[in-house]
Amino acid sequence: MNQYLPTIGLEVHVELKTRTKMFCSCLNDPKETEPNKNVCPVCLAHPGSLPVINLEAVKKVVKVGLALEGKIAEKSFFDRKNYFYPDLPKGFQISQYEHPLVEGGCLEIRDETGLPAQAGKAKKIQITRIHLEEDTGNLLHQGSKSLIDFNRAGVPLMELVTEPVFHSGSEARKFAEELRLLLRYLEVSDAEMELGQFRVEPNVSVSKTGKLGTKVEIKNLNSFRSVEDSINFEIKRQVDVLASGGKIHQQNRGWNQEKSETFEQRSKEEAHDYRYFPEPDLPPLVIDGKAEDSDVFISTEEIKKQLSELPWQRRERLERLYHLGPDLNEILVQDRSLGDYFEQAVSEFKKFDSGHKKEPDLEKTRVVYNLITSDLRGLMLEAKTSFESLKAKPADLASLVEFFHQKRISSRALKDVLLEMFETGKDPGEIISSKNLLQVSDSGELEAVVEKVIQNNPAPVKDFKAGKDASLQFLVGQIMKETKGRANPQVIQEMLKTKINS
Ligand code: ADP
Ligand code: MG
Ligand code: ZN
Repeated sequence: MNQYLPTIGLEVHVELKTRTKMFCSCLNDPKETEPNKNVCPVCLAHPGSLPVINLEAVKKVVKVGLALEGKIAEKSFFDRKNYFYPDLPKGFQISQYEHPLVEGGCLEIRDETGLPAQAGKAKKIQITRIHLEEDTGNLLHQGSKSLIDFNRAGVPLMELVTEPVFHSGSEARKFAEELRLLLRYLEVSDAEMELGQFRVEPNVSVSKTGKLGTKVEIKNLNSFRSVEDSINFEIKRQVDVLASGGKIHQQNRGWNQEKSETFEQRSKEEAHDYRYFPEPDLPPLVIDGKAEDSDVFISTEEIKKQLSELPWQRRERLERLYHLGPDLNEILVQDRSLGDYFEQAVSEFKKFDSGHKKEPDLEKTRVVYNLITSDLRGLMLEAKTSFESLKAKPADLASLVEFFHQKRISSRALKDVLLEMFETGKDPGEIISSKNLLQVSDSGELEAVVEKVIQNNPAPVKDFKAGKDASLQFLVGQIMKETKGRANPQVIQEMLKTKINS
């Protein structure tokens, strides 16, 4: 091999959304602003205090494991990972080493390596393990002083590790994005990256021997962009070092967003430096065993029942139903409440469609889609409304689109009525009649107007007869003016053509 092949494996830390902390009954409240409010002898490691396992956190990790089709451990243990740092009150972190809750599993992404043969194809990313541990406190540096806030100490933290199977920054980013989406679907975490609730640490190496090279771990990334950019920077840095005869040292590096480069932090501890040993104060976790085996009993069957539709299942189902194409479809997958609203609106068409069609009408579906994703979402963004608190109900949106579809209102009116529905929540039929927006398409009523416009505009009529199409548009415009926009343009065009050519 002449080319260096980059290889990346990810470690992802996720703060779980639970009511209380991992081993005590302090609140797990990421919004708490008063420092050291949610603390107790257990999470402050007072001598003699004893931890108790938070089953809600365990169930959340098992839920992720089931969604990724990993192997759920029958028996799982906690271990102590020993190291000293001021944000770690116990001097060790309770974690899991040899017996994690979940082993294996995979998550599918689109291949992003850019190799023509693979581009766009599905790629299964193998998960190594998922385990449970506790978060540390927060250090705040103020001039020469450092302050510690232990509100976060002991918050349940899930760690997911992948096999070294990515080959580019964009691929790793794709995985991180899909994983975050899954965690949000499963409601196990809010996974806000800027708040440190979803922390991605890429391990990067390059090699041209076919064996893996020495890896560097990039710490503390707080956006998807920095995941992609830092990996790409690191690949290039390593290739440059090796190509000029240097060596890569195993180390942790940070990411400087302004300079767009990684920088050296510290050389890496080996596992034996942590002197892992079994946590003596906690019982083993028994999963699906006999309840008598342990104080803490968990049933995977029960958790399976709570699994909602997963992102990839929804992606496939929506595409199959509505044929929007991958890009438009993705918006319905990424924003679940928008997607739900869309589906509710579309399902209302059954009322209007005779013969109980099984397939939704794709033309109307498109109109609904566009109205929601552009017009409605624009209004919502401006007014900071969510779909849940929207005054305009999906059924009303469907009936509005039905008016438009039957050419009873113009595209202009469609948007005007939507705006009023958004503001007042009124019924579209009511708005249309009170504003007199119904298009005049019955020819009896239009006849007189068309005649009048032809009489009053002999020159354009002559031009149109001579083949000038623009003149027809001018005449249409005149009629629209006379009818205050309520005429159906297609109908008038036809009427004009027949009248002028006869
Ligand atoms: P550590 O004990 O240093 O954390 P692990 O073996 O647990 O190392 O691996 C951590 C992460 O690094 C995993 O995601 C793994 O896939 C990835 N990884 C391991 N070796 C390499 C390598 N040579 N190049 C890139 N990634 C690697
Ligand atoms: Mg590591
Ligand atoms: Zn506590």
